[in-house]
Amino acid sequence: MKRVLITGAAGFLGSHLCDRFIKEGCYVIAMDNLITGRLENIEHLMGNANFHFVHHDVSNFVHVSGELDYILHFASPASPIDYLKIPIQTLKVGSLGTHNLLGLAKAKGARMLIASTSEVYGDPTVHPQPEDYWGNVNPIGPRGVYDEAKRFQEAITMAYHRYHNLETRIIRIFNTYGPRMRLNDGRVLPAFIGQALRGEDLTVFGDGSQTRSFCYVDDLVEGVYRLLLSDYVYPVNVGNPDEITISQFAEEIIELTGTTQKVIYKELPVNDPAQRQPDVDKAREILNWEPKVARSEGLEITFAYFKSLSEEELYKKDHNSFEQYIK
Ligand code: UDP
Repeated sequence: MKRVLITGAAGFLGSHLCDRFIKEGCYVIAMDNLITGRLENIEHLMGNANFHFVHHDVSNFVHVSGELDYILHFASPASPIDYLKIPIQTLKVGSLGTHNLLGLAKAKGARMLIASTSEVYGDPTVHPQPEDYWGNVNPIGPRGVYDEAKRFQEAITMAYHRYHNLETRIIRIFNTYGPRMRLNDGRVLPAFIGQALRGEDLTVFGDGSQTRSFCYVDDLVEGVYRLLLSDYVYPVNVGNPDEITISQFAEEIIELTGTTQKVIYKELPVNDPAQRQPDVDKAREILNWEPKVARSEGLEITFAYFKSLSEEELYKKDHNSFEQYIK
């Protein structure tokens, strides 16, 4: 039985990975400090004999007893609102946290996969973005804390591979959505659906001409799984190339939810990328991977999830456990 450590396990992607690795017959050690993660996302696994939750911040020394085959490092605030609120923690988990986990992987002889991001491309001048594009990142802008932490994370991961022969894998994740996203994390999809459910206008930032390409979570998890089991050490983009402007996306959400509210325009956040679309040729070629879930289908499932949440959840303005962790 393979033993897997998943960090950020109570988060959106981490919790879906826990489900997948349990389904694959692995023993899963799920680690999270619960700054942005929510225990609700994994409570269905708590009674499982092959699942063990550890409440820990990986920016501090990480101890795991017994053997480990794989480490999947998915701990990080990952929405612009989160990393603006907790910039230092964002920098630490991408840098110190990654260093601690690489050390653990080395000590255990485990293979380590890190969750990188399309943000390493910044506001890209090449479109769509292939893995060999180096990016256009403002290191001191509001997104710098996330972008640079993730770029450092890739650099230190490659260094451990080259100098310590560690088995490493790097996935660059593009915008991903699905059930268990936090309704109040500021990302565009939960923002729009939350607004529709509360009977508020939908807030489009800027003129809405900026583009994104949204990947359904099951496709992303499949990409992670295939990359982990592959022997490819360089970064691989995983995302859905189906690109859409944010204005068009707002119209799709209006149609999906049946809301009678309108779109209102707000100021565009600083360094908000103008366009983003993954070039997934490498994932196709190396992983034989292809996104399978169309946006219309994925949005239906995601909307059903958000509709099932309580009133309290729907009106919660902030994540309840933020404050206690901010030092
Ligand atoms: N956005 C928007 N309205 C919102 C939230 C976000 O128009 O209420 C825009 C945001 O400016 C960006 C896009 O939607 O251009 C995607 O934002 P998100 O925070 O989901 O992710 P990003 O890809 O920017 O990290």
